[in-house]
Amino acid sequence: VDVKDLKLLARKPGDPPREIKAGPVTFGGESVVLIAGPCAVETREQTLAAARFVREKGARMLRGDAYKARSSPHTFQGLGEEGLKLLQEAGRATGLPSVTEVMTPEDVPLVGRYADVFKVGARNFQNFALLRALGGQPKPVLLKRGLAGTLEEWLLSAEHIAAAGNPNVILCERGIRTFERATRNTFDASIIALAKRLSGLPVVADPSHATGSKELVEPVALAAVAAGADAVMVDVHPEPAKALCDAAQALTFQDFEALVPKLDRVARAVGRKLL
Ligand code: PEP
Ligand code: MN
Repeated sequence: VDVKDLKLLARKPGDPPREIKAGPVTFGGESVVLIAGPCAVETREQTLAAARFVREKGARMLRGDAYKARSSPHTFQGLGEEGLKLLQEAGRATGLPSVTEVMTPEDVPLVGRYADVFKVGARNFQNFALLRALGGQPKPVLLKRGLAGTLEEWLLSAEHIAAAGNPNVILCERGIRTFERATRNTFDASIIALAKRLSGLPVVADPSHATGSKELVEPVALAAVAAGADAVMVDVHPEPAKALCDAAQALTFQDFEALVPKLDRVARAVGRKLL
């Protein structure tokens, strides 16, 4: 496998994997980074409670979106700037850096005032104007693989960000659409190893959006770490039944607490660690 136009981000034989720093957190180093939090920022209480709990149990970064790319316009679309403020408040209260979605090039300066890492969602992975805007600023970008994105398309989207000036790209495998509808998407563990081999960029796994089901989050998270993922990102909600977005895949606090030591054991089995 060779991606001809991968130039700035190509990994040559013998090159070590790239490390990308976001505040106190390093992606691609010895430690596997655990990112957790609600799919969407809904209220101050919900975001703070989730941040406090996941921080206490071993998360190193807080997730939570203020801008949601939803298939239906008749569903919760996010709180916008108010949500960014609540995420920042929860991050500061817990000492966790944050990652949050940005959907348009115009929003990049605003989102960048509040968040430590930008997230480009699967539906925007080839929004080239957005990728260019993110290349024009220095904060790391977590770039999700598109719903039907090939490895080449995904890596070239990362290359777009680098070509515009920012090489700090973190890839995120979140499953791809296949004929299988029993899972929300089909998680592709093999692509983690291949993406790292070709680019050396850190790769995050998102078992929540890959499976769409809280029962499947743990086995897929463990598989991802075994396959070499540099980070795992999971949806956690204080009251999943009341979640305004992706309720079926949100872990309870209890689920999250049970997952962490297992992830740490698998990480250690492959020469890394979580805690
Ligand atoms: C998300 O991370 O909340 C999300 C919407 O995921 P994706 O873009 O992978 O569907
Ligand atoms: Mn979601």
